[in-house]
Amino acid sequence: AKDEGKGRFKFYSTDMTQRQERRLELESALRAAIEARAFDVHYQPKQTLRGGAIAGFEALVRWHHPNLGHIPPIDFIPLAEELGLITQIDLFVLEKACAVGVECLERGHPVTMAVNLSSLDLKNPDLPTLVAGILTQTGLPAEMLVLEITESFAMEVGQGQSNILQHLTALGISLAIDDFGTGYSSLSYLKALPVNSVKIDRSFVRDIGNDARDTMLVSTIVGLAHSLNLKVVAEGVEDNQQKDLLHHHLCDEAQGYLVARPMPADQIFGFLDQAALN
Ligand code: C2E
Ligand code: CA
Ligand code: CA
Ligand code: CA
Repeated sequence: AKDEGKGRFKFYSTDMTQRQERRLELESALRAAIEARAFDVHYQPKQTLRGGAIAGFEALVRWHHPNLGHIPPIDFIPLAEELGLITQIDLFVLEKACAVGVECLERGHPVTMAVNLSSLDLKNPDLPTLVAGILTQTGLPAEMLVLEITESFAMEVGQGQSNILQHLTALGISLAIDDFGTGYSSLSYLKALPVNSVKIDRSFVRDIGNDARDTMLVSTIVGLAHSLNLKVVAEGVEDNQQKDLLHHHLCDEAQGYLVARPMPADQIFGFLDQAALN
C-alpha cells in the first residue's frame, strides 16, 4: 500500500508537470497564432421560426494548429483571456465577419453577423473606436452587426463597461445576451444595458418536450423577453420536435445543428442560395 501511495504521488506529479508543459506549449502556440493571424472563422446560421428565412450568422473562431491539431474554443479562449490576448482574437473575428457580411449583402442576402465579445474586450475604452473603424473599413452597416455578451458577464457589468456598450449601440449595433437563463438570479441588467435580443441557453432547449419544467421555463423566458421588446433566439436546436415546440412557444429564431453546423465562409453563399429556394 505504501508503494502504491508513492507511485500515485509520482503519477500525479508527472501529470502536473505534463499539464504545465502542455499549458506552456499552448501559450506560445497561441501567441504565435495571434501574431500570424492563423485562425479561421466559421459561421452558424440562425433561422426565423415563422417564415424559415435565414436571419443571420454567428461567427465562431476556429484554430487548427499544424502540430497540436484542432483546438476547440473552450480550450484556448479562457487562456487568451488570462493572457490578455482575447481582444486581438475578437477583433480578428469581427473583421472577418464584417467582410463576409458585406459579401452576403452584395450577393443579395442582407443577413446579420453576430460576434462574441469577452468581458475583457469591454475593459478597453478604445473598443467603440476600433469597432467603428472596422465597420468603416469593411463597409458593413452597423445595423447588420450584433455583439453577443454572456449573461453571467452582463450581470456584473460595471459603469465603464456599460458606457462602452452604450457607445457601441449608439453606432447602430445590436446587443444580444448569450447563454440566457443560466445566470438567472437577477434580471436587473436588462434594464441597465441596451439589449436587443436574448439567446436561450442550450441546456433549456435540450430537454424541451421531455421535461415539463424546461418547456415552462422556455415559454416563460419568451414571454418575459417579448414584454421587454427583446427578440428571442434558441440555441442548440438539434431536432424538429424542439423546433416545433419553440415555434409553438413563440420563440423568434432557432440556431443549432438542425439548421446547420458552423461552416467556413466559402460555404455560406451556397447555403444561402439553397435556403432561399426552400
Ligand atoms: P457560444 O457563443 O454559446 O456558441 C455556441 C456553441 O455551441 C458553439 O461552440 C457551437 O458550435 C455550438 N453549437 C451550436 N449549435 C449546436 C447544437 O445544436 N448542439 C450542440 N451540442 N452544440 C451546438 P464552439 O464554436 O465550440 O464555441 C464555444 C464557445 O466558445 C462559444 O459559446 C463562445 O462562448 C466561445 N467562442 C467561440 N468563438 C469565440 C470568439 O470568436 N470570441 C470569443 N470571445 N468567444 C468565442
Ligand atoms: Ca455566442
Ligand atoms: Ca451561447
Ligand atoms: Ca456558451
